Order: sequence, then structure tokens, then C-alpha cells
Amino acid sequence: LLRVRGLRKSFGPNQVLQSVDLAVGRGHVLALIGPSGSGKTTILRCLNGLELADGGTIDVAAEVSLDFGTPPSKKQLAALRDRSAMVFQHYNLFPHKTVLENVLEGPVVVQRRPKAEVEAEALALLDRVGLSAKKDSYPFELSGGQQQRVGIVRALALRPQLLLFDEPTSSLDPELVGDILRLIKELAVEGWSMVIVTHELEFAREVATEVAFVDGGRIVEHGDPKQMLRNPKEERTRQFLHRLL
Ligand code: ATP
Repeated sequence: LLRVRGLRKSFGPNQVLQSVDLAVGRGHVLALIGPSGSGKTTILRCLNGLELADGGTIDVAAEVSLDFGTPPSKKQLAALRDRSAMVFQHYNLFPHKTVLENVLEGPVVVQRRPKAEVEAEALALLDRVGLSAKKDSYPFELSGGQQQRVGIVRALALRPQLLLFDEPTSSLDPELVGDILRLIKELAVEGWSMVIVTHELEFAREVATEVAFVDGGRIVEHGDPKQMLRNPKEERTRQFLHRLL
């Protein structure tokens, strides 16, 4: 579904992504782990077109094929953005819109789908995550866990081919983390394709089909979660896992 080759990105003199290669099959879940500042968030943002990569290629299914050797056109970038949807660490809901308006915004305003159809779908999704009663509430009236469920519903309502999660539970109180992880696991079981940046190794072991260790803007090692998290090949991976456990 997704193939990335040689992805590079600098912020001024700071080369954050050196050369990133990764692939995600349909229905697969890739977990990205690695130290703070290693480039995990930047990888997701490049996949979603929120950041423009300086070089490398991103292919999504047969439909999107971008080579960042030359700057992509607006149309190409819009096509890339349309393939994936991001769930953010800090939820990033629009503060002055209600829950329902937050969910409708992308599909109706950006994707220009019929409002009645999107609204029916949005209400069903909100019902699924137990938030129907909150549809007219504003984000500040919700707990962190509820806001993140809205964040997930907002992503699903875009009907993306790929869901991108950026440390979806890092801002949550510990007792709310399990709920969100369970919801993400359900989505994985349903066959959604995902890339998840996470520090939750147990979750990665359970849910991911592949795990990649990012350090210094490169994928240092990738493989089967059960195998790699227990017995990494690379010394750097070993050190990182050792510190977390
Ligand atoms: P964390 O686990 O702390 O979120 P990360 O692995 O996701 O870290 P990134 O957020 O991708 O790392 O950041 C990698 C590096 O890029 C950091 O040194 C960061 O300061 C830098 N960086 C990220 N975004 C920008 C930006 N918009 N402008 C300048 N530098 C940036």
C-alpha cells in the first residue's frame, strides 16, 4: 500500500531525516519506535504532506507516486494528503467548533462530499466510540480521552487508505490510555492500514505487524515485533529498548 524510499528532510541546517525507507502492506500496522528527536513525527508529517520532504519518493497504492527530487504540484500534494489521515498527540481539534463540526470539516469542506451523507456517517462513528451525546459539545468540555476519540473519528470520517497515529496516548492520563489503545487495536483487527508512532512497546508487540526502530533520521532496524523487541540485532536498538524496560 505504502512505499517510501530515501526520504530526506532538513529544517535549516538540521537534517532530520537522512534517508528513510519503509513499506506498509494493506491491512498492516507499522509501529515506529525510537528516541525523542529521532524523526518519527517528521516521517508521519511527510507521509501526510504536512511537511514537504526534500528528497526521496512516496508511493501510495497505484494512485499516488511522488518523487520529491522536484517539488510536487499542488494537485500531487493534495492527492497524497487525501490518502492518509493523522491522529495527533495533542488531538489538534478546532477549539471553536463542536465535536460534530470537527468531524464534518475535512470530508465536507476539503473532500466536498455531501453533508447529509457525511453527517450520517459521522454520527454512526461517534456512536461507536460512545460520544453521540457529546456531538454538540466543544473540545474544552471533553476529557483528553474523549478528545482523542473525536480525533480518531475525525480521521476515520476522511475514509483514508492509511491511518497515521502520532503518539496517540502520550498526552493522556494513565487510566485513559487503555481505552484508546483498545480502540486502535479494534481498528487494526478490522483491517485498517496504519503507521503508529508509539512508546507503548507492549501495545506495539500485540498490535503491530512490523516494528521499525528510528534513530538519527534513519530506520536502524525493522522486523517482526515479537522477535525484534525481544531480541534486537542492532546494538543501538538494544540500548534503546533497555532504557525503556
Ligand atoms: P519525539 O518522540 O520527541 O516526538 P520525534 O522522533 O518525533 O521526537 P521529530 O519531532 O520528528 O522527532 O523531530 C526531529 C527533529 O526535528 C528534532 O530535532 C526537532 O527539533 C526538529 N524539528 C521538527 N519539526 C521542526 C520544525 N518545524 N522546524 C524546525 N525543526 C523541527
